[in-house]
This record gives sequence, structure tokens and C-alpha cells, in this order.
Amino acid sequence: MIRASQELSKGSNILWSEFVTSMREKIAEWWQDTMPARIRQEVQNLEAIEGMIDELLQRCGQALVTHWVTAQVADTTESHPTCPTCDKPLRCVSRYRPLHKTGRFGELQWTRPYWVCGAGHGGWAPADDALALGPEHFTPALAHFVIEQAIDRPFDQVPAIVESAWNIPIDGETVRRVTERLGQQAEQREQTQIAAVAAGEREIVNQDLPEPEALMVAVDGAMVHFREDQAWHEVKVGVSVPLALSGSLGPGIQGIQASPDYCVGLESRAEFWSRMEAHAVQNGLEAPRCHLIPLLGDGAHGIGEEGALHLHVPGKTLVNTLDIFHAREHLWAFAAAQFGSGTEPCTTWASLFNDTLEAHGVGPILNALAECSSQDARDPEAAHTHAQYFSNQQTRRDYPRYARMGLPIGSGIIEGACKTVLKQRLSASGMRWTRPGAQAVATLRALHRSHQWDAWWKSTQPYGRTAPSVA
Ligand SMILES: [Zn+2]
Repeated sequence: MIRASQELSKGSNILWSEFVTSMREKIAEWWQDTMPARIRQEVQNLEAIEGMIDELLQRCGQALVTHWVTAQVADTTESHPTCPTCDKPLRCVSRYRPLHKTGRFGELQWTRPYWVCGAGHGGWAPADDALALGPEHFTPALAHFVIEQAIDRPFDQVPAIVESAWNIPIDGETVRRVTERLGQQAEQREQTQIAAVAAGEREIVNQDLPEPEALMVAVDGAMVHFREDQAWHEVKVGVSVPLALSGSLGPGIQGIQASPDYCVGLESRAEFWSRMEAHAVQNGLEAPRCHLIPLLGDGAHGIGEEGALHLHVPGKTLVNTLDIFHAREHLWAFAAAQFGSGTEPCTTWASLFNDTLEAHGVGPILNALAECSSQDARDPEAAHTHAQYFSNQQTRRDYPRYARMGLPIGSGIIEGACKTVLKQRLSASGMRWTRPGAQAVATLRALHRSHQWDAWWKSTQPYGRTAPSVA
């Protein structure tokens, strides 16, 4: 059998048939053992028939994977690995050290040779590296599925999905550990890219995409509850959107050229802008064709200062705009503070000026605000804060001009990003996060929503060579 397995892993057709024969025997064995009793009980029901076949296929899968892995391990038994730390030959301490994993077809177990370094640098199994097993209890295929589920729902809801799909029992705590670990790996890769861009490696990473003519960048934030201090903290979300312009008629935006690319950061404002810059560069900020950079924000998050600093490129036009949705929110919040929330004067006043912003800019709003006496305000402090919003940063609210230029003035994309990338998972009710855990899941969600999930999984081999474990 060992010889057959060795040949199998080298792709020999003759021994492939032996492999198939051995599988056929296993299936027949299982069939004879279990079918007669089952058939008497359940035979006519199609759901039961499908369930039985499913179980059969799972057992076959389990046997096939074990067979295949054993063959591959057999190939490595004659090798003489050296220590990755000191390069001295390793000593084999067991030829048959058992390994257990939970995989796509259920519990798996096999044995492989285990080696240690005489100089105390740890011990490991080279066969595990060849399989790209990774250190986790789940096999890569199961981990891939589990993590994709876990970024969309609480960790403890994932076992029921795996149980129902594949009849494999797992526990929520393992789901959390595996997801956060892989997320931290994704975040480390992101940090490497941020450092590379900051150090001057500024080529566009994704060469598959056409160069954009304009790149819209927008930033917003949402609150996430952290375990460490039992408090809510703002987490920032950024989006880069490659745009096509409408050609010779003017700089109007014709459409979105490629999927929006999202990033999320728990770090300080200044650090977040380095992350945002790295993403913008990778999405074509500095591409020769890209000459217009509409930058949209809510007036917070340093969009005017750090934003301009990080995204200013000589020869390109940066248009720094305050998002009109946020402006409207402040308008309605002012009306509520001034006239009383939900009252008739509140609705009348806010409705009157709601569309004024886009058509006539901030001037008429400032006049209207000046006419409202703070003495009459229901909540003078709040009214003052929201009124202040309009007198600040007026140069970034020339909405009629932006409209003439065809620039985006309200970013549904960033509002949507905050909701879908961050809030739905991280701000959901009852969610309490550690900082590394939140960043890990947020980074994975950003990759997923940016349609980079599969490329990331393949390119980074998160399940690649494992570090030596301390024996
Ligand atoms: Zn060593």
C-alpha cells in the first residue's frame, strides 16, 4: 500500500487504478455494514436517500483524504530536513507521530515523522509544511469556509451552519480563534503594504484593473464596543473608488470603473491616513491617467488636513468636499435642537433648507441659522454645535460648483461601507471586542467586501509553512 501511495503521489495511472479499487472496497464495506438496516427503515423517502448518500460521500471523502495524505507523507519519510534556525540536521524522534485535524469531511487522523533540533530550536513535521497544514485544528478547506461564515455572524452561530451543511461538529471558541488568527495574518500583510507605500514603493498593486481617470476617496467612522475598557470607540472606514469620467464634455463622473476598495482601522487618525493612502495608491492614485481626486468626508477624521497631506499628488486636482448627507444630518439635528425633535416647526424648517444646500450652497443656510435665536432653542448647546458645523470649512461646501463639475457630493458608498463593512458585524447588539480581534475581523471583512478575498487566500497562503513549535 505504501508503494502504491508513493506512486500515486507521483501521478502514475496504473496505481491510480489501485487507489480507486481500494476506495471501491471501502465503499462496498460500508454499504454492506450499514445499508440493510437503513433500507428497511427509510428507503422510500427521498430526503432520507439523499441524506444517506451524503453520509456515504462524506465517509468516502474522509477515506480519500486520509489515503492521499498518507501517500504524500510516505514520500517525505526518507528526507533529511535541516533546522530553519541553525541549519543543522534534525533528529527524527518519532516516525509515526499522530496528528488529528477536523476537515471538510470530518475527523481526520494520520501519522507522520516528527523531528527536533538538537540545539533546542523546537520540533516539527516537514510533512505538515508540504501539506500547507497550518497550526490550527481545522484543515485549510474547512477553515476557509468557517472564516467566510464567521466574518458575517457571531462566532457561536457558525457551528450550527457547519453542522447543517456537512454534519461536522465544531465549537464556537475554535471558530473565533481560527478566524482572529487568520485575520491578524491578513492585517500583518496590510501593515507590510502600508509600510512599503510609505517607504516609496508606490506602484499599483492590482495590475488587472484599468487605470482610473479619477479616484474618489471617502472616509467615515462608526462606534465599536471594546472589552478592554468597556467603552465605545470610533473605528474608521475608508473607501477608494476608481471612476471613469464622461470625456471631453467636462470632468463629470461617468461611472464606477472597478469595485470600491475598503479599509478599516482602529488606529489613530494619523495612522489611519497612512492606511488610506496605501489603499489609494494601490487603486491608481498616482496612475498617469488619473487626474482628479474627489475627497469626501464628514468634516471629522482629519479629512481636510491629513487627507490633503496624504492624497495630494503634484499635477492632479484634489477636490476636498464635505459629504452632503452629513451636512443634511447636521441641518436636521440643528432643527431638532432649535425647535424640538419631531415638532411641526422642526420639520418645516429642515425641509425648507434640505434641498437649498445642493442648489445654492451654504450661504442661505448661514443666513437662516443667524435668524434663529439661541435663547429660543430647546437645546441651545446642541443647536450651537450643529450651527457651528456650517460656519466651519465653508470652502469645502461649494455644492453648486461641484454639481456643475459633475463631482460626487454625497457618498452613498461610504455610508454603505460603514454599514456593510463595519457596523453589521462589529457594532451589532451585544458585540464586545478585543482590539486585535476587532481589527482582525474588520480587515477580513474589508478584503471580502472589496472582492479580494479569494486572491488573498491564494496569494498569501495563510496556511503555508508553519513556524517550529517549541517541543
Ligand atoms: Zn536549530
